Amino acid sequence: MQAVGRSKPEITVVSPAYNEAENLPHMYDRLVAVFSTLGVSWEWVVVDDHSGDDTFGRLTALALQDERVRAVRLSRNFGSHAAVHCGLSHAVGNCAIVMAADLQDPPEVIPSLLEKWRQGAQVVWAAREQRAGEKEINLFFSRCYHGMINRLSGLAQVPPKGADFWLMDRVVIRGYLRFREIHSSTMLLIVWMGFRQETIGYCKQARQHGRSGWTLKKKLKLFIDSLTAFTHFPIRLMSYLGLFVATLGFLYALFIIMHAWVGHPVQGWSSLMVAILVLGGMQMGMLGILGEYLWRSHDESRRRPRYLIERRTWKKSANPSENRSA
Ligand code: UDP
Ligand code: MG
Repeated sequence: MQAVGRSKPEITVVSPAYNEAENLPHMYDRLVAVFSTLGVSWEWVVVDDHSGDDTFGRLTALALQDERVRAVRLSRNFGSHAAVHCGLSHAVGNCAIVMAADLQDPPEVIPSLLEKWRQGAQVVWAAREQRAGEKEINLFFSRCYHGMINRLSGLAQVPPKGADFWLMDRVVIRGYLRFREIHSSTMLLIVWMGFRQETIGYCKQARQHGRSGWTLKKKLKLFIDSLTAFTHFPIRLMSYLGLFVATLGFLYALFIIMHAWVGHPVQGWSSLMVAILVLGGMQMGMLGILGEYLWRSHDESRRRPRYLIERRTWKKSANPSENRSA
């Protein structure tokens, strides 16, 4: 398509959307309200991560009514990180604001993000200070995840409670789109990239409509992805553990030889069974850790696209010149 009609918007809002049909019209109204007070040109790129509800239908209606809205639908559910990557590859603004489509990230925070950006920050994280309506158990696991990842990744500047709402300058977007990794965490990759990063706080709101698409399976995968992408600590731990157990085994062998030497050989199979079970279990666990690293590197070496696009809808007069398509 040709870049005709209106000029390039200054700001792009990128939202991944999975079964968000109910939320999208409200989000659109709030974005319009916020940007009308700011008086800057903007666009909203929404990537439908192959929803099962009418998400794409609602998006199409919005896109046909307002040229600032651009709708993309992925060919299957690839996960929100892939959807964000796709959205960023369509963004044409001088900066992009990545935010969920469920209104848990309030659009009213956008002016504070833009203020930091105008002061010179190239990445501005909106870090969750409070999370309304979240179950205690989820908050507990979230704290464990971020605590471990922050400690093990060795990356300074990781927002301590995580962040899935942020602003990126065009120069950061360009850099980010060069990454071809599939099994990784978007937040950690951006922190890893460097640039001038700053953080502001906000209160993550409760969901009004629909359910969280972040199943336990997806969260576990992100946890292992984040570990394998940013630390070799589990492999190092295996080596240390192996060395430690081998030393113990050697000392135990010495103990047995000494006993036999003085004429009181150690009796019994239970100690043997314990040793076999402990060692067998540990070895299997260690093979599992190696396997997690191995299949990821195997998968990455196939260089499959991170996502595939099924459809795109926006008004002809919009300016859809893309950075790159996957
Ligand atoms: N999302 C997505 N693909 C998925 C799961 C979620 O694009 O497979 C979107 C979702 O529509 C929302 C954002 O990612 O806009 C954050 O997801 P969600 O609200 O489910 O996560 P939570 O707020 O519970 O962490
Ligand atoms: Mg949410």
